[in-house]
Amino acid sequence: MEILNYTEEHRIFRSTFRKFVEREITPHADEWETAGIVPKSVWELMGEQGFLCMDLPEEYGGLGADFLYSVIVCEELVKTNFTGLAANLHSDIVVPYISAYASEAVKHKYLPLCISGDMITAVAMTEPNTGSDLSSIRTTAVEDGDDLIINGQKTFISNGINCGLVVLAVKDPAVESPYQAIDLVLVEAGTPGFEKGKKIDKIGWRSQDTAELFFTDCRIPKANRLGRKGGGFTMLMEKLQPERLICALMAVTAAENVLEMTIRYTKERTAFGKPISKFQNTQFKLVEMATEAKLGRAFIDKLIADHMEGKSLIVEVSMAKYWTTEMAMRVADGCLQLFGGYGYCEEYPIARAWRDMRVMSIFAGTNEIMKGIAAKFMGL
Ligand SMILES: Cc1cc2nc3c(=O)[nH]c(=O)nc-3n(C[C@H](O)[C@H](O)[C@H](O)COP(=O)(O)OP(=O)(O)OC[C@H]3O[C@@H](n4cnc5c(N)ncnc54)[C@H](O)[C@@H]3O)c2cc1C
Repeated sequence: MEILNYTEEHRIFRSTFRKFVEREITPHADEWETAGIVPKSVWELMGEQGFLCMDLPEEYGGLGADFLYSVIVCEELVKTNFTGLAANLHSDIVVPYISAYASEAVKHKYLPLCISGDMITAVAMTEPNTGSDLSSIRTTAVEDGDDLIINGQKTFISNGINCGLVVLAVKDPAVESPYQAIDLVLVEAGTPGFEKGKKIDKIGWRSQDTAELFFTDCRIPKANRLGRKGGGFTMLMEKLQPERLICALMAVTAAENVLEMTIRYTKERTAFGKPISKFQNTQFKLVEMATEAKLGRAFIDKLIADHMEGKSLIVEVSMAKYWTTEMAMRVADGCLQLFGGYGYCEEYPIARAWRDMRVMSIFAGTNEIMKGIAAKFMGL
């Protein structure tokens, strides 16, 4: 059942990107997991080959490519069973805030660097005391002539150590309504008053440089404010659709990937004189999990097609984000069980997949928040 219209160009691109991944990423993944970070040089290589921000127009150095190219990059990276290189976060989630809402001068300053991989981006909303409830953020931006002065702290920021540019959610303390008070501003690494804190020691996504960020009397030009003053909340709501789609796509692809490795293993491993794939329990479990993955695939591909047609999918992407990530966690857990004791060993890729999938119900908006959004839009 083909829902997405991949052309010959898309297929050629997939093969080219897969070769790049096999050459430049997979052989180093273990080393980066231990180091807790992906070297910036890999981002530059991605940029050199034209694999970053492919949708951006040619005037900034992009390719004007459609969303299926982002889908391909996402799927091929997930198939490596390695989560450190958050290229889709950069290309499809953070940079679109700049391309959609920055002034032309700011776009010309930053977008070519985002495309080349010289400037890695991060989006910083979460703070130590608030994640789901964005209206409660405490990081402030106070106007001072042509500048804004920022004070506050962010945590759990993906690409936090490597980032050269942050899309930062701030609040104007003079505005009473939290929904009118939030702005998104761009802060460059190296700006006095902007310090990167420690890399967070996580149970999964170990090569992702998730970090704390600190802002102390950090002065940036007002021109770095995205969109209209007080429009932060609206911009975030508008751009969350691709974030949730990408997250759901990662979940479905990861489920397919662990199923593939588990089917292979169950055909090779023997017990009681036969491959464990011959036990009825193994077969039923694998069929049940494969059915769930296929349901997820049909759902996500349909949503990608609708997204590419410009449809607003608030309820559907919220449902997809919660359901596919829970499905992927169920599948990873069921697959690990079929590996027996080896599933619990770092030497076997299922162990990392199981650890890495756990966070998917938490980031990009928790699954409880997703259900809350869907319930609200369903008039409940
Ligand atoms: C690996 C990783 C990467 C991340 N990357 C980023 C990033 O790049 N940028 C960024 O800004 N943030 C990032 N985050 C933060 C992430 O988005 C937050 O952790 C998430 O939004 C939840 O916020 P919280 O941790 O403060 O939990 P809380 O908001 O405190 O929630 C705790 C629990 O309460 C539940 N809850 C909260 N409110 C409600 C409600 N109204 N109804 C029902 N249940 C509710 C939640 O669902 C959750 O189960 C990342 C987190 C991780 C772990």
